[in-house]
Amino acid sequence: MKQLLILSGKGGTGKTTVAGAFARLAAPCVVADCDVDAADLHIILSPEPAGRKEFYGGKKASIDKTKCTSCGRCLEVCRFDAVSSGPFKINETSCEGCGVCVWNCPAAAIDFKKALSGTWSVSPCRYGTFAGARLEPAAENSGKLVALLKTEAVKTTETAGAEFLILDGSPGIGCPVLASLGGVDAVVIVAEPTVSGRHDFLRLAELLNQQKIQGFLLINKWDLNKEETETLEAAAGGLGFGLLGRVPFDNLAVKTLLARKTLGEDGPAPAANAVEKAWKILRAELEK
Ligand code: SF4
Ligand code: SF4
Repeated sequence: MKQLLILSGKGGTGKTTVAGAFARLAAPCVVADCDVDAADLHIILSPEPAGRKEFYGGKKASIDKTKCTSCGRCLEVCRFDAVSSGPFKINETSCEGCGVCVWNCPAAAIDFKKALSGTWSVSPCRYGTFAGARLEPAAENSGKLVALLKTEAVKTTETAGAEFLILDGSPGIGCPVLASLGGVDAVVIVAEPTVSGRHDFLRLAELLNQQKIQGFLLINKWDLNKEETETLEAAAGGLGFGLLGRVPFDNLAVKTLLARKTLGEDGPAPAANAVEKAWKILRAELEK
C-alpha cells in the first residue's frame, strides 16, 4: 500500500481537483479528505451516504448556577475572555478547554465535559472507498480529527487490499497538515506560478525536507505565468523535488467540476491530460 498526500500552500490552487483525478486513475483505491476544516472532496466523489460517527476532541467548561457563589475567580484566571459576569457564565465558542477555571473555582461549580468537535464516516464511492470528516463550526482539534481519519483510512486500505491511499490534505503548514504527514510515502505539492505560490511552495518543501519525505511538484495553470513557472521548477529541482509537469488553465476543467465529476471523467481535455501524465510519472517513481 502506498500513501500519497496532496498538499498546497493555500486553498484554491487545485489540490482537491488533483486528488479527485488521482483517485479516479488509482481506482480501486481508498481516498480520504483530510482537509477537515473545509471538506469538499465529497462533492466530486459523491460517496454513498453513511452513518456519521462522532468525534470528541476536547473539553468545554460550563458554570453550574446552583453552585456558583459569584466570587469572580474564573473571570480573573481565564486568558481567553471566555467568562462574563452578572451572572457568571462561559461562552462555549470562546472557551479553549484549558481547564484553568475548573481548577481555580473554590465552589467546584464548573463542569468540564467532552465537547463534540466533529463527525466522520467511511463509505463506498465510485473509485473504491471514501473516508471523510467535518469539524463542527468553531471547533478545535482538527489535527486530532485528521489523525483519527487517517488511522481509519489506513485500516480500510489494508482490509480492502488496495494499492493506493490518496489523501487530500489541508492547505498551509498547520496542525492538520502535520497530522496528515505521518506514514506517507510521498507528497505532491500543487502550486500556482505566482510569487506567493512560490513562497508557499518553499515553506511546504522545507517542512517535507525536514521530515525526510519524498516530494513532488505539480504546477497548476502554468500558462498564466511562464517565467514564474520556470523559477518554481528550478527551485523545486534544487530542493530535490520530482517534477510532475504543468497543468494548463482549462475552461473544460471548470465545467467538469461544476458537473460534480473528476478531471478526465468527461474524456480527454488539456488539464485532464496533463494530470494523467503527472499520475503516470508519479506512479513510475513510486514503483522504483
Ligand atoms: S470561580 Fe466558581 S464560584 Fe467563582 S464565579 Fe466562577 S463559577 Fe462561580
Ligand atoms: S476552560 Fe479555560 S478557556 Fe475555558 S472558560 Fe475555563 S479558563 Fe477559560
